[in-house]
Amino acid sequence: MAGLEVRDVSVRYGGTTAVDGVTLAVEPGEVVALLGPSGCGKSSLLRAVAGLEPLAGGRVLYDGADLAGLPVHKRRFGLMFQDGQLFPHRDVRRNVAYGLETLPLTRQERDERVTALLDLVGLAGYEQRSVPTLSGGEQQRVALARALAPRPRLLLLDEPLSALDRQLRERLAGEVRAALVETGTTAVFVTHDHAEASAVADRVGVMDQGRLLQVAAPQELRTAPASDRVAEFLGLRA
Ligand code: ADP
Repeated sequence: MAGLEVRDVSVRYGGTTAVDGVTLAVEPGEVVALLGPSGCGKSSLLRAVAGLEPLAGGRVLYDGADLAGLPVHKRRFGLMFQDGQLFPHRDVRRNVAYGLETLPLTRQERDERVTALLDLVGLAGYEQRSVPTLSGGEQQRVALARALAPRPRLLLLDEPLSALDRQLRERLAGEVRAALVETGTTAVFVTHDHAEASAVADRVGVMDQGRLLQVAAPQELRTAPASDRVAEFLGLRA
């Protein structure tokens, strides 16, 4: 199968089972959100897909190939976190260009790609700005441009908007979706906020205590929640 396949994956830390037999497929170009309360195992699952956490069970495949033993940097996956982890001493252009430095591109091609990405994330003309002068929202836009720059075959986003205030978060969620759709990027987006999950994703996977309870389009989750727990988490039941 093309795209990402997570088959019966478990992640354990000592005696704690953080992810408990999760199966999930993400098609090429699809954006899937993992939604659930803090501690339900979303980040652990994302980190296991990235290759940052060993699997206690199950398999992770991409385009049909098992990724076991393939190190993080060889997966051609992009990562973006709550704190964008920009390089404070590099300007915006050099932050976005970071992931392009090892690719066989001319300087002009690199500069053109950086300009196009800044345009895509609504920061046209920001090339020379220094990171400490940017707002939190601007920093996360730069982090998104940087993550997209090498054209990862899968982008993994771990609560990328959670440090921002609610109003900005809602606007940016729509903009992140637009950037992913425009670039045709396959993505998994972790969040504890159901409005954000619905704004960003084609399908939302609801997690609880290490398990995936339901995966469905946002509208379907609202109209046909598979269990009381799902409905409760979406705020549909008291
Ligand atoms: P979420 O992303 O949904 O908040 P996490 O995947 O971070 O959930 O955590 C799932 C569970 O695993 C929690 O009980 C958490 O305390 C535990 N956990 C996460 N990371 C570690 C770790 N490095 N060592 C031990 N326990 C961990």
